[in-house]
Amino acid sequence: MSAPTPRPGILDIAPYKGGVSTAGGATRVIKLSSNEGALGPSPKAIEALRKSADKLHRYPDGGCEALRNKLAEKYDLEADQIVCGAGSDELITLLIRAYAGPGDEVLYSQHGFLMYPIAAKGVGAVPVTAAETNMTTSVDALLAAVTAKTKIVFVANPNNPTGTYITDGEMKRLRDGLREDIVLVVDAAYAEFMTGQEDYTAGEELVRAGKNTVMTRTFSKIYGLGGIRLGWCYAPIDIADVLGRLRNPFNVALPTQEAGLAALDDDEFVNTCVRHNAETLAWFRDEVNAISGLIAHPSYGNFVLVEFPAAEGKNADAANDFMMSKGVIPRKIGGYGLPQMLRISIGTKEEMDICLQAIKDFVNR
Ligand SMILES: *Cc1c(COP(=O)(O)O)cnc(C)c1O
Repeated sequence: MSAPTPRPGILDIAPYKGGVSTAGGATRVIKLSSNEGALGPSPKAIEALRKSADKLHRYPDGGCEALRNKLAEKYDLEADQIVCGAGSDELITLLIRAYAGPGDEVLYSQHGFLMYPIAAKGVGAVPVTAAETNMTTSVDALLAAVTAKTKIVFVANPNNPTGTYITDGEMKRLRDGLREDIVLVVDAAYAEFMTGQEDYTAGEELVRAGKNTVMTRTFSKIYGLGGIRLGWCYAPIDIADVLGRLRNPFNVALPTQEAGLAALDDDEFVNTCVRHNAETLAWFRDEVNAISGLIAHPSYGNFVLVEFPAAEGKNADAANDFMMSKGVIPRKIGGYGLPQMLRISIGTKEEMDICLQAIKDFVNR
């Protein structure tokens, strides 16, 4: 008897590994491996989540109507062009299922988010990468990599794990250079952390301008709600319609919808998080850059890339092991083609003090 065989491509997937959350025997664990909210979840969201407990026997609103209306109001968008998902990961997967199939190409940049190749292989499509320049998405390289088989292009802006972004002018140049039948997905998971960059937009005007660009957003980062899985996208009406047909009928859980609604009312919390991130990131980068031999790269997200020397015992792998032994968990990013670096999420000031001390102890040991 022969065993069932999965469809081509599926066994080529390297399963996504979330950031590690335990560190050996360390008494206190500081998890800086998954770009989670430094200051925890929005207190208003916690309250709404608790209140939702009495309603758990009810199915959620499959259309997420209240949430879409609130998002539309807050961001000045059309509610019927918003689709909610169990994290933006679900929307990324749905977009690929809808628009790419066996043999088609899914294009993204060299150090782009790993969900893109995972979802592409899941439908038998071929992930294709375009080289970056200075760890930044290159519009020219993406355009040069387009073939007749290209169906969908992903740009995380700012990107994870590099932390770099491209300007709205560059994004528009990319859109203008792509065939009209290619879907461009602007993954703006970190948009809320962008402060004062006047040449940046999250992508909604490109969605409005045509029939082929989608912007994805998440509650996992700025709202600190990664644990309850909530993301959304803004899409041209035809694409929103397609996603509405393909998604599971009740893809966003009831407590998630209620917590998400409450989080959208918590502007004070969001502002505090944005300020905390900007200040702590700038301080942490300066401190790391003052350590001889290390480079903390510029970042527009809630994380920073720290580059270590290549020498054995001094490299990123050794630093990771040492930090883990101190209970500090960074993220190894060899899977993103950056084995010489660790990605470190911005935690509380106290957590970053301990993280910094671990890095200093590593360098001076
Ligand atoms: C964290 C992240 C996401 C969002 O993930 P969720 O599924 O919404 O938790 C999407 N894209 C990028 C680039 C990310 O870093």
